Amino acid sequence: MKLTVDGELCMGHGRCYSLAENLLDYDDDGYVTARGQLVDVPADRTDDARNAAGSCPERAIQLLED
Ligand code: SF4
Repeated sequence: MKLTVDGELCMGHGRCYSLAENLLDYDDDGYVTARGQLVDVPADRTDDARNAAGSCPERAIQLLED
């Protein structure tokens, strides 16, 4: 699985990285640092990635299944 964050949609609420620590990081303004990048999700973190994507009120997080 891979994860990507749409930088145009991310509003910096912070819900995602609180649910997916060590998978997503944030900048000084609270925006996810991985905007526009593909993040590899380890097999043992897929639940965290799904929880993070489901928590985003902006639907900014997309999951790409292998
Ligand atoms: S929950 Fe969504 S809008 Fe908020 S920081 Fe995460 S990706 Fe951005």
